[in-house]
Amino acid sequence: MKRIAIVGGGIAGLSAAYELARTREDNSAASCTFTLFEAAPRLGGIVATERRAGFVVECGPDSWVSEKPAARTLAVELGLADALIGSNDRWRKTYLAEGRTLTPLPDGMRMMVPSNWAALLASPLLSWQAKLAYLREPKMAAALQASALENADNNHDESVRDFVCRHFGAEAADAFAAPLLAGVFGGDIRSLSARAVLPVFTQIERTHGSLILGLQARLRAAANNSAPADASIFTSLRDGLGTLIERMEQRIPAASLRRNTRVQAIERTGQQWRIRTESNGALAEEIFDSAIVAVPAHVAASLLAPLDAEMPTLLPQHASSAIVVALAFAPERAAALRIPRGFGFLVPQRQSATGHPDSQAALAQRALLACTFVDQKFPHRAPPGAILLRAFFGGHPAPALLGESDATLATLALQSLGTLLGRLPEPEFSVVQRWPLSLPQYAVGHLQRMEQLQQRAARLPGLHLVGNAYHGVGLPDLIAAGCTTARTAIGAACAQSSTAKPPATRTRP
Ligand SMILES: Cc1cc2nc3c(=O)[nH]c(=O)nc-3n(C[C@H](O)[C@H](O)[C@H](O)COP(=O)(O)OP(=O)(O)OC[C@H]3O[C@@H](n4cnc5c(N)ncnc54)[C@H](O)[C@@H]3O)c2cc1C
Repeated sequence: MKRIAIVGGGIAGLSAAYELARTREDNSAASCTFTLFEAAPRLGGIVATERRAGFVVECGPDSWVSEKPAARTLAVELGLADALIGSNDRWRKTYLAEGRTLTPLPDGMRMMVPSNWAALLASPLLSWQAKLAYLREPKMAAALQASALENADNNHDESVRDFVCRHFGAEAADAFAAPLLAGVFGGDIRSLSARAVLPVFTQIERTHGSLILGLQARLRAAANNSAPADASIFTSLRDGLGTLIERMEQRIPAASLRRNTRVQAIERTGQQWRIRTESNGALAEEIFDSAIVAVPAHVAASLLAPLDAEMPTLLPQHASSAIVVALAFAPERAAALRIPRGFGFLVPQRQSATGHPDSQAALAQRALLACTFVDQKFPHRAPPGAILLRAFFGGHPAPALLGESDATLATLALQSLGTLLGRLPEPEFSVVQRWPLSLPQYAVGHLQRMEQLQQRAARLPGLHLVGNAYHGVGLPDLIAAGCTTARTAIGAACAQSSTAKPPATRTRP
């Protein structure tokens, strides 16, 4: 019987554990035993839902991109088909905060790529020079494609800003790409890798040159193919994404789950792995045949350093911190609020205006990257007539706010949102969640470094790396990666064993 250790019980590690448990049920001959070590008292990592007074508050991710099927497939497999909900796309409008006003992004934008010329040209968010740059982009298709193919041949990467500038100019990069990516990665488009962060667009560039023409072709193909007309852009679960974690947990044998257990070291011992742990002050060690490391980048760096000093240098060197503050307004107070119709707003990042240390309020204002109008984006998130707002603080100023109390952060959120939405009353309750170093920054050259990392990891048989530090931060990517990693681990373990059969292959897109 082969033994597999999983270190970290976020969505990636838990998906790996669930896949191993499922494989044990399906194919006892191929069975391995496994143990998942999670430092926190609960599983799920950044996926966390709080349900209170009829509100469903997502403290981390609120949904997944419907286009990527792995999360839906998993939910259906877990018996959650009836619980799937789509975003309210008829109200799909995102605003950009400029000063104290909210201006809608043009309809039909896929990030910074337009699909609706009339809306783009009518938008007050761009100068006429920037609109001309958009109009010119399709005419440059051949040249853009040639340079994209050359870049691909030379394995050349560039920053997201450079990539967007080549297509649409600097104004579009700063007006659209910067706040959109800050809202997702809490990151800076001058350092983020175009190939790692915008894989769909870099692929479109290789095939069509023009992103506008390529997007039009994709939309036409989707309309002619399978995409149901009512497919929503985002998918979630009625009672929150925490349900996905709870259901996976139920399917994993309790004896395989060790919460409150921090892995302190992973050591090679002959062909096996020694896992050293600490739990409530007690130290222990156990031997495994494989180790799936599913912890955040900075933790992976410290666990991997003694095994190979080069590996930590290939991992993302920076991760941004986020603070989520949800404000729940019961119907009687919500009635006074005037929230525009839409999914929420993005705030372009600003430098400190004075060069002097910021006041807390000014810091919070600069750290505010986005706000979701939760009850409008999804059904079932708030009681009828109630309003649920979710502020997302991140970027460079956020770490300075992490030490503030929940009460202070809730007050700062109320004030920062109030400058854009009008004065807000005291909420019925607020939920504050801090996520330090949670969003790794895929800097230029990331994919090349991942290849090198993979090669070095392959020299340590039985060691597997998965999680948001490597090939995508979104839930569908991590679920698929967790599942694939589990199958690779069990396949490798079976290859060493004469009696075990490898698990039957199945597809999780
Ligand atoms: C605020 C926010 C909003 C987001 N919104 C979305 C969204 O809407 N849609 C989407 O698709 N994605 C979203 N993301 C991204 C996505 O949620 C994350 O990329 C994903 O959840 C990370 O999963 P993970 O398993 O890689 O890591 P984590 O969730 O960080 O899990 C790692 C686990 O390892 C544990 N651990 C750490 N050290 C040790 C140790 N030494 N020993 C044992 N265990 C350890 C941690 O406690 C944790 O449970 C969002 C992220 C944030 C921060």
